[in-house]
Amino acid sequence: MPRIAIAGFSHETNTFAEGLTTFDDFVRGRGFPGLMRGEELVRVLTGKSMCTGAFIHAAEELGFELAPLLWTFPQPSGLIEQDAYDRVLALLLEELRAALPVDGVLLELHGAMVTEGLEDAEGDILAHVRGVVGPEVPVIATLDLHANISPLMVEKSESLVGYDTYPHVDAWERGLDAARMMLVAVEGRVQPVSALAQVPMLIGPPRQCTLMPPMSEVIALAHEAEERPGILNVTVAGGFPFSDIADCGASVAVTADGDRELAAATAREIGEVIWDRREQFRVRLTPLSEAIGHALATGEGPVLLADGSDNPGGGAPCDGTAMLQAMIEADVPNSTVAIIVDPEAVSGAVEAGVGNEVTLEVGGKTDDRHGPTLTLTGYVRLIADGRYANKGVMYTGVESNMGRTVVFVVGGVEIILTEQRIQPYDCQALRCVGIEPRDRLLIGLKSAVHFRADHGPLSTAIFEVDTPGVHRPDVEQFEFTKLRRPIWPLDEVAEPF
Ligand SMILES: [Zn+2]
Repeated sequence: MPRIAIAGFSHETNTFAEGLTTFDDFVRGRGFPGLMRGEELVRVLTGKSMCTGAFIHAAEELGFELAPLLWTFPQPSGLIEQDAYDRVLALLLEELRAALPVDGVLLELHGAMVTEGLEDAEGDILAHVRGVVGPEVPVIATLDLHANISPLMVEKSESLVGYDTYPHVDAWERGLDAARMMLVAVEGRVQPVSALAQVPMLIGPPRQCTLMPPMSEVIALAHEAEERPGILNVTVAGGFPFSDIADCGASVAVTADGDRELAAATAREIGEVIWDRREQFRVRLTPLSEAIGHALATGEGPVLLADGSDNPGGGAPCDGTAMLQAMIEADVPNSTVAIIVDPEAVSGAVEAGVGNEVTLEVGGKTDDRHGPTLTLTGYVRLIADGRYANKGVMYTGVESNMGRTVVFVVGGVEIILTEQRIQPYDCQALRCVGIEPRDRLLIGLKSAVHFRADHGPLSTAIFEVDTPGVHRPDVEQFEFTKLRRPIWPLDEVAEPF
């Protein structure tokens, strides 16, 4: 029986975000145990719809022995302290050396990790893993759709299997794909070789959504190409544009059976389709007044406002007040803001107690890029522990911990105040504090696209609103210094390939 090492070392790094990501962030994670080693990661991730959950399932189904190494995936945030990265990598490599000999290595990576000293952390991880196992042992990694794929990542792995969905609802399927490819590679039935086509485009998250064109059509083409003889996998990565590194942007990585030229030609073909459709990938945001006006005029909810600029799932602070302020000023009835992270305000509300009125300084405390701190007088409706497990189709079963959580009501607007940065893409983030999304007229969500999986089907309308922030979907607002140029839409690009 083949023996396959499995590990997860993931982070989506927003290099524009305030503050550094520390070793403690990797240890704490986002609710379920943060940094897990050995059998603990098997116990915790069994049945969870993430890539590693699928690796574990595949071991049973396909018949291979697991050598579980290490797993960590904290909430996206700013640049990673070099020492934090070095420590986690050292632990991973220590576990890998202790697990030798192995027949293959399956890694759950994100693809947009940046440290103080490394623009291409995943390239570095793969190079180190390759260094330990040598050139003959297959190394296959899964990636998020927001990966900024580098040539080094492709060089140091046999295959990179990326999500095909945004919202990311296919982690389980892509994990199974990677595990199946690993098994046939180990058995010598295929020889996976990969090639990369980088597309000189920065695509704002809303236009990377695979529920609608143009991205749905690009993914359909990728699936068609995967059916062609000799093609083992096609990964279309939209890229994570809030990362000031040379390799930032969209790309296509293709794995073929022993034929690198076929892989390269296929990657380029799909890359050219993305390039040709670039105008369809342009982001257009809606003014807050227009989106709120729609809800007030129709009276039919829930109308969803996506405050993508302050999305904690992309490293933003999630204490921005631009959307909240507009909702309060418009005196919107029967509405919710999910969520505002503000441990001080939570403490103030807890001190005041349930059923009491209190004046709190809310939000805008991380930096001055997401709206000012608001002085708000309201009513403390509920205090909760902020823990829930996803019931929606994205990362089903995965647990989140918002910390102490308060429902603070200001006029017609109820604000979910939390201690931890959690993207409220699953309806449980609201339902765990007694709020049924279907009953609301307007819900402001700190999420760019992921909310569409669970909240979307309940809604009467969705607006991507124009707010300021470090995850602002309009990428032309950012100043890049390390990004390769020229790149669309910042520059004219004469020769895209
Ligand atoms: Zn992603």
